[in-house]
Order: sequence, then structure tokens, then C-alpha cells
Amino acid sequence: MRADLHAHSGVSDGTDTPAEFVAAAAAAGLTVVALTDHDTAAGVPAAAAELPSGLGLLAGMELSCRFTAVDGVRVGVHLLAYGTDPANPALRASCTRLRDGRLSRTRRMVALLAADGLPVSWEQVARIAGGGSVGRPHVARALVEAGVLTSVQAAFTEEWIGAGGRYYVDKVEADVTEAIELVRAAGGVSVLAHPLASQRGRTLSDDEIVCLAGAGLTGLEIDHPEHDRDRRDHLHRIAAAAGLLVTGGSDYHGGNKPNRLGAELTAPGVVEDLLARCTGPALLGGPA
Ligand code: AMP
Ligand code: FE
Ligand code: FE
Ligand code: ZN
Repeated sequence: MRADLHAHSGVSDGTDTPAEFVAAAAAAGLTVVALTDHDTAAGVPAAAAELPSGLGLLAGMELSCRFTAVDGVRVGVHLLAYGTDPANPALRASCTRLRDGRLSRTRRMVALLAADGLPVSWEQVARIAGGGSVGRPHVARALVEAGVLTSVQAAFTEEWIGAGGRYYVDKVEADVTEAIELVRAAGGVSVLAHPLASQRGRTLSDDEIVCLAGAGLTGLEIDHPEHDRDRRDHLHRIAAAAGLLVTGGSDYHGGNKPNRLGAELTAPGVVEDLLARCTGPALLGGPA
């Protein structure tokens, strides 16, 4: 088994259609791939409908969350959710709130840019997002299209829409403890995405991660392109102490990021363990 448990399609801020996504996963030699679009699982049925033989699709999403520290500081965290019931009303409502928040927040970022005379419009960003879960990469692509920037990456700086940037606006986030419970109640399992990806902003302390384990978190995504060897070693010690599973994923975003499918993998035994902890059928299709 070769399993990549973190990847995005154009239903959020990747660039592949769901059909292109599963074809790319098979071409990368994967036998299991999770589709984890930001705040939506809307791409899963279309991806499942186009599954090449020998590829299993793990239904997932990546929820935009915050952890409120004891000093009141809010830390943005991403929660990977796998195997949730797509019809679960509470989880659907939470995703809708997060996506609606993305719409208004992106409109504000575009308005700030336009107010400074930059040639971007909401219509252009909405066209690039194509009706899916809108995010900063879509704004970045609009800036590239307009000739303002030469790459999507170049937008993620303080001058533009990077963390703390001039045109950056916070997004609506779910409380991470509540999200873990929502995912569990919807029959799924949750894994903390890239816990030490520190270039995105403040990350959780060891104690804060242990606190999430107590709240029902199932795993830590340790094998992620933004974690160096030291961070991985450190997280392995936390996972062992807190009884958390260890996962890996590439965080593939098609043409919006250099991350390649299969660059990071999850051990087969962990995939089985995750599936066993989901109450419903989480894996669609399957490895040959
Ligand atoms: P948002 O969820 O709208 O705040 O946007 C965050 C997304 O931007 C992440 O999920 C990544 O897909 C993307 N992103 C973050 N940093 C970078 C970067 N340096 N280059 C390209 N894309 C990035
Ligand atoms: Fe993304
Ligand atoms: Fe993420
Ligand atoms: Zn991601």
C-alpha cells in the first residue's frame, strides 16, 4: 500500500478537477489517496465516480480551526477529518459557515487590494475559484493573472496576503475542540495537520497538542513537507506519549504548490487503524 492522506483538488485551492486528481494519484503510484479539500467534501463523489482500478479514495476534508490558548491567544490550526458521514447535519452546517466566512473574508482582501489601485476584482477571483471553497491561492492567482506578481508563492509575504500581510484578512475558524467532537459525532476521525508548520504562524505547544489528544484527536500528521527532521522527531515523542497515530501526506495542491502527490506517505497499518475507527465506510474503491 502507498497512501497519501492529504491532498487538495480544485474544489478548494488545488487545480485538478476531481477526475484529474484521482488519475494523478494513480499515475503517482498511490494505492490510497485522501481528498482533503478545505472546509468541504464536495469533490468526493465526483472523484469516487472516476476512480481508476487499484486506487482507494479516503473521504476527507481539512477544517479551518483555531485553538484558544490559556493567555487568550488564538492559534490557527488545520484539522484533517476522515470518514465522516457526508449527510451529517451539524458537520455540514459547520462547513457551510466556514465557507461563507471564506467568501466574505476574500471579498474584503480583494477590496483592500482594489482600494490600493491593484487591478483585481471579486468577479475575477470568483471565476478562478470556480464555485468551490475560496482561499488565498485564488487571490494570488488573480494577482498573477493581472501581471502584478510572477507566482502564487510570491503572494504569501507580508507585503501581500501572507500571515500578517498588508492585505491579509483573518478567516472564520471553528473551535478545534468542538470540531474534533463534530467529526467524531459524524462517524469520522481527526488528525492535526502539519502541527509544526511554523512559517504559517504560531504553532501549538506540546501541552496544547496533548490537550487535543484528551479532546479526542486521533492522530498527528508528522510526515509533511513543511516538517524538517527535528520537528518530526519531536512530534514522534509527543505522539508516543499521548497515544496518537502518526500520518503522512503531501498537501498536494496541483499547480498551486510544488508539493507532489506521494511525496509523503502514511504507513499501511495506520491507514487500517484509521479506517477501523470510522463508524461508516470511509474508503471508496480500494487497492487491488
Ligand atoms: P487560506 O486557507 O485561504 O487562508 O489560504 C491558505 C492556503 O494557501 C493554504 O492551504 C495553501 O494552499 C496556500 N499557501 C500557503 N502558503 C503558501 C505559499 N507559500 N505558497 C503557495 N501557497 C501557499
Ligand atoms: Fe490549501
Ligand atoms: Fe493545511
Ligand atoms: Zn492542506
